[in-house]
Amino acid sequence: MTTIKLHNTRTRKKEVFEPLNKDDVRMYVCGPTVYDRAHLGNARPVVVFDVLYRLLRHVAKEKGWGKVTYVRNFTDVDDKINARADETGRDISDITAETTQWFLDDMGSLGALEPDQMPRATQYIPQMVAMIEKLIADGHAYAVEGHVLFRVRSYQDYGKLSGRSVDDMVAGARVEVAPYKEDPMDFVLWKPSDETQPGWDSPWGRGRPGWHIECSAMAYELLGESFDIHGGGNDLMFPHHENEIAQSCCAHPEGTFANFWLHNEMLQVEGKKMSKSLGNFFTVKDLLDQGIPGEVIRFVFLSTHYRKPMDWTAEKAREAKKTIKNWRSQTREVEPSEVPEDVLALLADDLNTPGVITALHRMANEGEFSKLKAVGVLLGLLRNEMGDWAAGLHTMEDLVNDHVEAYDLASELAERLDAARAEKNYEEADRIRKVLQEAGFEVKTSANGTSVEPNSDFDPAKLEALK
Ligand code: AMP
Ligand code: ZN
Repeated sequence: MTTIKLHNTRTRKKEVFEPLNKDDVRMYVCGPTVYDRAHLGNARPVVVFDVLYRLLRHVAKEKGWGKVTYVRNFTDVDDKINARADETGRDISDITAETTQWFLDDMGSLGALEPDQMPRATQYIPQMVAMIEKLIADGHAYAVEGHVLFRVRSYQDYGKLSGRSVDDMVAGARVEVAPYKEDPMDFVLWKPSDETQPGWDSPWGRGRPGWHIECSAMAYELLGESFDIHGGGNDLMFPHHENEIAQSCCAHPEGTFANFWLHNEMLQVEGKKMSKSLGNFFTVKDLLDQGIPGEVIRFVFLSTHYRKPMDWTAEKAREAKKTIKNWRSQTREVEPSEVPEDVLALLADDLNTPGVITALHRMANEGEFSKLKAVGVLLGLLRNEMGDWAAGLHTMEDLVNDHVEAYDLASELAERLDAARAEKNYEEADRIRKVLQEAGFEVKTSANGTSVEPNSDFDPAKLEALK
């Protein structure tokens, strides 16, 4: 039987994972703010938690747990979205609808399953208002000048997740000082909207929610006051996740909110977090458009453990593409076996994906192709429906990219073949033709000369050997 162990940010320990309720394993992950294409960094939590979701579903079957419920939100009310609407003159709803679909398409290309629920913040405004009313009634929040603020000092455990005291945080954080705040640490639950801004009627006037309250309200509505796992990037630990905990635990003291907190480390560019604000980003779509298959991007992500920072490099992508191509050709006609227990144990050990990839290399080398396929599929790789890019495995374009020398050599041999024909040295021409054919080239001779096209037997090594 598999034991899942996960590093819990809340306790700073790797702990054995047992669901609170075996009939329904529940996970919430903070999703994107929809105003622009997802950059590559935004895709990291998606892939990480997709692997966890797949692992939970796999182990749930083994252990006879019930369903796994995975919720990931879309933040579709936010000042960044308003700013984008102002810049472009477009409707907010057009921007959010378009960006949401882009996100789903791009993440689908990375082989990410859609979560079971994908709530949008604007669909949960009444639930947010109700939660805020409860917080005010219980003394955890206060309304002032059309704003509602959370009274951070009313929650004893504030800062526990990220391991800081409120006083440290006041000193270190760029907290917004505003005259209406009782304390600079207090954060916004609700704020007033003017006529040009999106807004909803509320007991505090027409306004819109602050960012943090949406996750608390949606998690409560869809998963209840206590659930199993909460995930997101470690850039969200403070203030977003601290604020979620404070709101949820104060509004629903009968519950514990999330039992396990998991945080992925950042995707970096030259040592700095990839982010829109630093401008050091490229999008998932940019990479897909450059011909890097989503499966290859996924593989590169999984090669680094989720709690380590990672860099994206073109070299890693090139290597990954070669590996996946090999594995795909080795497993094309293969039926997957059961996932071997020792490899499953690696994945279940706090998602040791680099360890699993090492095991995959070993299986490929040792000819254990049904295991290779089974484990690949568990990681969301080598799936038939993602294989279109690899079907064109031996296109001239791939050849040029991956085997420039082999291609040059084949072209050179084709020229020599034509030269031999011109000299009526048909014996030599036939010899060269055979060499090319044995290396897996289609050889076509016409009035314009000889052209070569690699076929499915293409083997650059053979060509090299015949040099
Ligand atoms: P945002 O739209 O900025 O709130 O981010 C959406 C998700 O992407 C959050 O879970 C962030 O933690 C995550 N994220 C943002 N930038 C990066 C990055 N450079 N590396 C990994 N995750 C990131
Ligand atoms: Zn959140």
